[in-house]
Amino acid sequence: MSDKKGIAILGSTGSIGTQALEVIAAYPDYFDLQVITAGKNADLLIEQALKFQPNSVVIGDEIQYKKVKEALWSEDIHIYCGEEALCQVVESNEVHTVLTALVGYAGLKPTIHAINAGKTIALANKETLVVAGELITKLAKEKGVNIYPVDSEHSAIFQCIVGEFHNPIEKIYLTASGGPFRGFSAEQLKNVTLEQALKHPNWSMGAKITIDSASLMNKGLEVIEAKWLFGLQADQIDVIVHPQSIVHSLVQFEDGSMKAQMGLPDMKLPIQFALTYPNRFKTEFPRFNFMNYPQLTFEAPNRNVFKNLDLAYRAMHENGTIACTLNAANEIAVEAFLKEQISFVEIAQLNENVVNACLNVLNPTYSDYVNADTVARNKAKELIR
Ligand code: NDP
Ligand code: MG
Repeated sequence: MSDKKGIAILGSTGSIGTQALEVIAAYPDYFDLQVITAGKNADLLIEQALKFQPNSVVIGDEIQYKKVKEALWSEDIHIYCGEEALCQVVESNEVHTVLTALVGYAGLKPTIHAINAGKTIALANKETLVVAGELITKLAKEKGVNIYPVDSEHSAIFQCIVGEFHNPIEKIYLTASGGPFRGFSAEQLKNVTLEQALKHPNWSMGAKITIDSASLMNKGLEVIEAKWLFGLQADQIDVIVHPQSIVHSLVQFEDGSMKAQMGLPDMKLPIQFALTYPNRFKTEFPRFNFMNYPQLTFEAPNRNVFKNLDLAYRAMHENGTIACTLNAANEIAVEAFLKEQISFVEIAQLNENVVNACLNVLNPTYSDYVNADTVARNKAKELIR
């Protein structure tokens, strides 16, 4: 085994995955890229494999498998296909850290395999903690596995508490940009288009999280993610809208002192910190200039208009499989909105209707989550028809 840190990137062809590869390429003496995986984008996966020469690649889509295999046949790279392969490659002895940059519920199973195999987790796939936070955090504790956040807000909190692990957190504030529809009334929100929803003011991200940011579901998912990552109660987590996205989040300690982590919005920094923690490596990223941001502003989110946020708080209060149900409903709703089958406001409506229609199973096992996910997806699809 080499001295370098072996990395597996699940979802290397996505927004987080491609930025993670830039980080890895910048420190060839420190990282050893072992595994990259894609869902459907065979062309980009092939290009990445030729450039980085990982030990293994996995493509989710069976139809694309042949193409990947043909393109890489002469390389010394193992090529696999499908969900089971995804779960197995993370278990390799050469892998130290698994960056989970898949989108949605698909991240759950490989993350469980990685934790069971004792791998450090760099967690971008927030849906994993939303769906099964109770199970994941318990398992990670049992296996002595660290989960380092990649999500910028959670990385900010993590950076604020380094060196403070013995000091209890009184409260955290997760900042939200407010998305493209900040300040919109319920009436105005009824007429927004897909094109408008896909234009995030400050971040360039995958389609699903971009829509979640516009509907404030992303902040709802992040509130649940924070609960599990930092062991907090719902009333210790607050959301504050900060349109400039410079303050990435804040922690308040028991003496009333507050710490914030700041910087220009660039996901490469939290990705890198999760992969190099506890070290900070020198970067050439652009630096913040106060003169370009003479005003940093803060405001309350409008929970009457953006109803997803309250749904997430409700899920936190009720525990059990309700957050899994909410996540599944939201995945179907966003998919339908992206296909222009439902309107923007119908996303939150659908989420609420599915949550109300599905049974909440308390103290869930893994199969309870799987079942809750299936039931919620079916219910959401039925309500869309
Ligand atoms: P993208 O849609 O850009 O990328 C998703 C990646 O996952 C792609 O590599 C995709 O492959 C792969 N993938 C999707 N579905 C499956 C599946 N069923 N099986 C296997 N692979 C699959 O998403 P993002 O990079 O934006 O987001 C990834 C995660 O990180 C999400 O959970 C998101 O919430 C979180 N996150 C993202 C941020 C960002 O700035 N983008 C910020 C904070 C968190 P392919 O494209 O080849 O089909
Ligand atoms: Mg975030």
